[in-house]
Amino acid sequence: MAKRDYYEILGVAKNASEDDIKKAYRKLAMKYHPDRNQGDDAKAAEEKFKEAKEAYEMLSDAQKRAAYDQYGHAGVDPNAGMGRGGPGAEGFGGFAEAFGDIFGDIFGGGQGGGRRGGGQQVYRGADLSYAMEITLEEAANGKDSQIRIPSWDNCDTCGGTGAKPGTKAKTCTTCNGSGTVHMRQGFFSIQQSCPHCHGTGKIIPEPCTACNGAGKIKRQKTLEVKIPAGINEGMRIRSAGNGEPGQNGGPPGDLYIEIRIKPHEIFERDGDDLHCTVPIGLTTAALGGTVEVPTLSGKVEIELPEGTQHGKTFRLRGKGIKGIRSAYPGDLFTHVSIETPVKLTEHQRKLLKELDESFKKGGDKHSPNTKSWTDRVKDLFK
Ligand SMILES: [Zn+2]
Ligand SMILES: [Zn+2]
Repeated sequence: MAKRDYYEILGVAKNASEDDIKKAYRKLAMKYHPDRNQGDDAKAAEEKFKEAKEAYEMLSDAQKRAAYDQYGHAGVDPNAGMGRGGPGAEGFGGFAEAFGDIFGDIFGGGQGGGRRGGGQQVYRGADLSYAMEITLEEAANGKDSQIRIPSWDNCDTCGGTGAKPGTKAKTCTTCNGSGTVHMRQGFFSIQQSCPHCHGTGKIIPEPCTACNGAGKIKRQKTLEVKIPAGINEGMRIRSAGNGEPGQNGGPPGDLYIEIRIKPHEIFERDGDDLHCTVPIGLTTAALGGTVEVPTLSGKVEIELPEGTQHGKTFRLRGKGIKGIRSAYPGDLFTHVSIETPVKLTEHQRKLLKELDESFKKGGDKHSPNTKSWTDRVKDLFK
């Protein structure tokens, strides 16, 4: 019998998204569920399921899907690289295991969890993140900082048991204290966290009023944080074990401190380099002179030559920031911005007009850029 097209098996279009493919597969997996296909139908349902599973495994893998789209069945070998439960597997073992996959997905069980003696689900605590805003100077020089973060302590009232003083937690009768239950469905059984005790294996008849039966109380603690010199926007510092506590003896999560740098009044940072714009007057630009330029380590003077143009950049080597992984500090780029004088007096206006006349007498030599530009414009319209 010729093999059916994978898209046809799943009933999806050739351009179906990953999500559509997954949805279609789940639908089929439910349809051919052994509970609904007993007796004579069981064998046919199993075949249908295997077919759908193979189609799903091919189309959910981008590489295999591309090969299948190009070469058809010849482009993909469904038996290659498959473990237990692949289409080649015999009997119900593969069937049940394949169902296990999608049920795990649907119930969201087992994620990040491990198991401890007695079958209780052990969870690592969640990671926490903390945004810290620092100045550019602090980023450049480093900083010792303190932050307040949430912490969880054993409840003093109940000593961490969660039970009201004088009462005791009881072993959950649904799961006999194991925290998990097994549900038999057709050919296979699913292990799930006990819905009665939520996987703790214990039932608290009278919860402690101080902690509402949690056994832990949320407090604040102060943490010393060393911000390394050269840190940049968006970098994260990890503080191991300072996240949320784990469950049933699982390890705590980590705390991540994410750095934000406040906008600076003068400097803009680009990697290890800094940029700033220095306004100068028209006459200073024409005659030359010295200007004071700020740096992160104090002021420096820059000597402006006669005839400094607008937009001219002066590079101050080593006056940038030394990044965390850099061997040398970056540079400071000073961009000159020429300010045209405003609110002129009559006298000033007269002087400028005289100056203008004088420039005209000198021809184009006082403004070579303007001359070159007007020449190019002229050429354009010839
Ligand atoms: Zn308590
Ligand atoms: Zn239970």
